[in-house]
Amino acid sequence: MTPSLPHAALPHPAIWASHAGTWIADEDGTRAVSRGETVRAAADTPAILLNAPLTGQRLGQGDLSGLDLLELFAFLFPARFAVPTPAGLARVLGMAPPEGEPAVAGFLRAAAAHMIEVAGGDWPERAGAWSAAQSLHRMRWPWGPVVAPRIRKPAEAERWLFAALPEWEEEAPRPPPLTVSVTAEEAEARLDRLTGRHAEARPGQRAYAAAAAGAFAPRQRRDTPEMVLAEAGTGIGKTLGYLAPAGLWAERAGGAVWVSTYTKALQRQLSAEAERLFPDPAERRARVVTRKGRENYLCLLNLEDALQGGFAGRAAVLAQLAARWAAYTADGDMVGGDLPGWLPTLFRRNAPAALTDRRGECVYAGCPHYRKCFIERAARASAKADLVIANHALVMVNAARGREASTRPSRYVFDEGHHLYDAADAMFGVALTGAETIELRRWVLGPEAGGRGRRRGLAARLSDAASYDEEAGRAVADAVEAAGRLPSDGWLGRAAEGRPFGPLETLLAEVRALAYARAEPGADEAGYGLEAALAEPSPELLDAAEPAAEALDALHGPMVALGRRLEALLADAPDWLDGPARARVEGAIASIGWRAETVAAWIALLARLGGPADPDFVDWLAVDRSDGREWDAGIHRRWLDPTRPLAETVLKPAHGVLVTSATLTAGGDWAVADARAGASHLAAPPVHFRSPSPFDYPAQAEVLVVTDVPRGDPAALAGAYARLILAARGGTLGLFTAIRRLRAVHARIADRLAQEGLPLMAQHVDPIDTGTLVDIFRDDPAASLLGTDALRDGVDVPGHSLRLVVMEGVPWPKPSVLHAARRLAAEGGGKAYDDRVVRARMAQAFGRLIRRREDRGCFVLLSAAVPSRLLDAFPPGVGVARLPLAEAAARVAERVSPALSTPLPLGHGTPLPAGDAE
Ligand code: SF4
Repeated sequence: MTPSLPHAALPHPAIWASHAGTWIADEDGTRAVSRGETVRAAADTPAILLNAPLTGQRLGQGDLSGLDLLELFAFLFPARFAVPTPAGLARVLGMAPPEGEPAVAGFLRAAAAHMIEVAGGDWPERAGAWSAAQSLHRMRWPWGPVVAPRIRKPAEAERWLFAALPEWEEEAPRPPPLTVSVTAEEAEARLDRLTGRHAEARPGQRAYAAAAAGAFAPRQRRDTPEMVLAEAGTGIGKTLGYLAPAGLWAERAGGAVWVSTYTKALQRQLSAEAERLFPDPAERRARVVTRKGRENYLCLLNLEDALQGGFAGRAAVLAQLAARWAAYTADGDMVGGDLPGWLPTLFRRNAPAALTDRRGECVYAGCPHYRKCFIERAARASAKADLVIANHALVMVNAARGREASTRPSRYVFDEGHHLYDAADAMFGVALTGAETIELRRWVLGPEAGGRGRRRGLAARLSDAASYDEEAGRAVADAVEAAGRLPSDGWLGRAAEGRPFGPLETLLAEVRALAYARAEPGADEAGYGLEAALAEPSPELLDAAEPAAEALDALHGPMVALGRRLEALLADAPDWLDGPARARVEGAIASIGWRAETVAAWIALLARLGGPADPDFVDWLAVDRSDGREWDAGIHRRWLDPTRPLAETVLKPAHGVLVTSATLTAGGDWAVADARAGASHLAAPPVHFRSPSPFDYPAQAEVLVVTDVPRGDPAALAGAYARLILAARGGTLGLFTAIRRLRAVHARIADRLAQEGLPLMAQHVDPIDTGTLVDIFRDDPAASLLGTDALRDGVDVPGHSLRLVVMEGVPWPKPSVLHAARRLAAEGGGKAYDDRVVRARMAQAFGRLIRRREDRGCFVLLSAAVPSRLLDAFPPGVGVARLPLAEAAARVAERVSPALSTPLPLGHGTPLPAGDAE
């Protein structure tokens, strides 16, 4: 890009608000101003901003609007990555970054002028921009009057997005994989080829690849996959370690290996590793495919709806920007793909979700965009790929209820394998809640009064089948009638006011009443979720259960009957059932099938109410709330051991499974790892492999246990965080187990740190998605980030940007009905169970600190009461010191302050060494 241009052409002022202060830049220069003055200025004339919701929050002005540079960037450069900060924007625009906060507002004006200049010329994403700008102008997009007149009208009319997107090709189904093996030596040789290094350099990685090859041996017994559990310390390079045998097997067998992760961060890293495997982009596209759940992808039918009036106001602007992106995206993935994670956060929360296929309303071949659909394209590409990069939830959904039975994978690699248990727990659980039932009602009935768009109910989706087959028509009509008795919009308010409508709303009202009645003292006032065991239900709840079960039964029967009729229709196909109609009926059978299963599970749940508890399950009542606001209520059921259904649906049908992680046995031995991966439910034991990290942890890291920060004192906790962050001069990841405390600490120290030039961001505070927060943190070595569970695991920030991890205390598991039941059932007793959970969490948190050989860092635990027995969660040999805060801060300053250490290369995309994605 060209260097910055004079910005005199833009008359608008620019505003920059941070925790350090507020500045306005206009034609007369830049001045520091009060928040009130800034708000007045922004109301008078549209101002140039960077991230309007964030700026609004910092000014105490919820709904600030203006000329948001991020929206302009998304319009001009769809599907391009940018860290949404002044420095990040400067980098992608090829401009010099502002030096210091007072210079930012002036920089924003210059950046705006630069981008406007781009709009007036030719740039790679110019196609489609003119028409989009005209539409956006008509919608009163603040940039409209500035941008629309500058973009040259194309000489020829541009093709409408839906015509321009490529179509996927239907291909013959892939034959089953051949029976082949991969020897340890072959896996090692392939690894050497991939890394291009001498074998001696990475003995741990070679041993790992050899062990991983065991998961690709031919299966010896029915229902018993060749299973390998491999724990590889950080830095081994396990990614390439397993990709080596996986790639070899896929080539020889002609089958696909599904590599499954838990976090999006690792999924992204794996896609990057694939570049090493297949440097040629065309070959890579054919052989490596990333798959996510359908709810992640843009649904073109929903987008078309939105563009044609289904969305209004700001949501309509988002639809236009999403359409710009849709023309340039690699895969249509709106969550973690090439749509900037920050873009949806600039708009109303529900608008982005409404562009995906969240509710399973897809009409498959009945959709005019079926042949261009991103979801269908990804499904077809993965059917012929060598490597499919997926996630645990999708693997389980596909195994349990996938439509792609013929292409079901037989070889899996579960990376981040320590999360298999949690993923199975969520997947195989049952939730009979208001949100779930209302979703089902919408799926059956379609949009009700006031609904916009072309979303359609079951009757419309299956109108041809229903009119052709009398029984199917009756089943649809019965299902529609029964769905009318499910909860509808406003149910929660009605439940709270004691005037529920229909049997399900009555049930939920009783659930809610009992959860409040049995809440622990103080829990009600705290404003967070409430729960109670489902033991000895109230007579009112028991009375409500029967009519609710009957109402569900009245829906279940027709759903099952409809599924059967549709199957019969396929078996004895009439003339009108051509290829596309068949695909649509097949899709309907699959979605009716799993929804009927869900309804059956709800009925079973209600049937047991008041009877003896089933020892395989844990049931409880819950009211979901955040900040005192209720958003759902219902009955929940989880498997006491969720690896049982995991073993049945995923592991037993597979031929080979590798489960791997850096912390597979953390907090226990192999027996624990076997139990948590589901291996103990298989007929033969798995192979175990362990390779310690090659890092010199004792030299690279130190654990400091701070002994003088009193528990339960928010001021002291905030003071400790501030002092430690100052000592490290930023570069700190602060981990919390409670959002409440995280917010309290952030509120107390963010301004103070900002005055020192140390920005502090926080999950649950800043209106920015977690992925972008990590991008910003990675990009700025002075920045620090506070967060909860999602940041404890799966955050990969190698180098100097992350040099200090501070945990607010021992991460004990949150007391809950489910936890209490599992604790009671745990082998070795409840204390050992809790200890295992804590060790695993501390090991994961510590794992964020040292990502490369050159990394140096401190891990601080703000808890005098941490029992010594838990300190073996850290790698052997790492020094652990118990000391007061003042000494800890001095140690941190000495060890990791930038002045005393050699800064390492920084920035997004800093390549990991070969295979170091962990
Ligand atoms: S095929 Fe389904 S998911 Fe794809 S665009 Fe059409 S309705 Fe949306």
